[in-house]
Amino acid sequence: MQKIGVLTSGGDAPGMNACIRAVVRSAVQKGAEVIGIRRGYSGLFSGDCIKLNRRAVANIIQRGGTILESSRCEELKTVEGRKKAIEFLKQQDIEGVVVIGGDGSFRGAAAMAEESDLKFLGVPATIDNDVYGTDYTIGFDTAINTALEAIDRIRDTADAFERVFFVEVMGRLSGFIALEVGIAGGAEEIIVPEKETDLEKLCSTLREGFRKGKRSSIVVVAEGNEVEHTMQMAHYVQHRLKVSSRVCILGHLQRGGSPTARDRVLATRLGIAATDGILNGKHGHVVGERNGKLVYIPFRDTWEKKKELDKFSLESCKMLAG
Ligand code: ADP
Repeated sequence: MQKIGVLTSGGDAPGMNACIRAVVRSAVQKGAEVIGIRRGYSGLFSGDCIKLNRRAVANIIQRGGTILESSRCEELKTVEGRKKAIEFLKQQDIEGVVVIGGDGSFRGAAAMAEESDLKFLGVPATIDNDVYGTDYTIGFDTAINTALEAIDRIRDTADAFERVFFVEVMGRLSGFIALEVGIAGGAEEIIVPEKETDLEKLCSTLREGFRKGKRSSIVVVAEGNEVEHTMQMAHYVQHRLKVSSRVCILGHLQRGGSPTARDRVLATRLGIAATDGILNGKHGHVVGERNGKLVYIPFRDTWEKKKELDKFSLESCKMLAG
């Protein structure tokens, strides 16, 4: 394979730039040409592409976001749309594409692979860490460290008054961020979409904490919890316990920022592996890491199988609070 494309798609994640850099430099090293496709799959429709050489990816390893930009592209979800996208790649003589994104982006890649002889390899990048088959995704480590820094600050102010702080972190469908941030931040309770939440039980845990002399409590809530909105949860607890409650929604703060060392290393390793793979004819998979080893996960597994949250950690960390 002489010419490959690279794109970032779906939600952006810190470390995507480190991955683009690794893809470009390792491919150029092996004598291949790399075309950067801008704004995710949308670039295939607008023809927004750029040839990337070693210098084009200089000084980006430390930058959050993605220099190629990203998008959500509805056109790619239709057969006619994909036909156009495939034609464009063929016109450009691009034989294979490295797709850096989440399971939605891998669905798009798998569909195009099925409908053409083009080759695709994926690299998992999403702050949510909810891609099956890989222990970590690019961006997760940075997001949890950003959220943790916020919790540490909240702790300082929380202790000044008797209060319950509800900190909402990202995770519409999964509680990976909430779990790690909750453990590392010493939260009293962690509320995740994977587990039913009993508000009465939450109140009695918090009441018990105050009875033992706690000045304040922190509850970490994943945005996708099934009970109700974090605001309503805080009102309920305030009403039941007669202590003041506050809500802090971290939102998009968690998406930005310079990637941590771990994210840069993961992005670099996976970027090199994906390039090696695609130049040697490997395709139809996502390159991940399990127990420190590189693994290839079939595209389909990433949306058909669900990565399990470590329920043991979720339960056991509670005994440390209070
Ligand atoms: P992520 O990759 O972070 O999961 P999305 O779910 O938003 O993000 O998907 C990113 C893009 O991938 C979509 O905008 C669309 O272009 C493409 N995509 C997602 N799902 C499909 C699908 N079922 N078929 C074809 N393309 C899809």
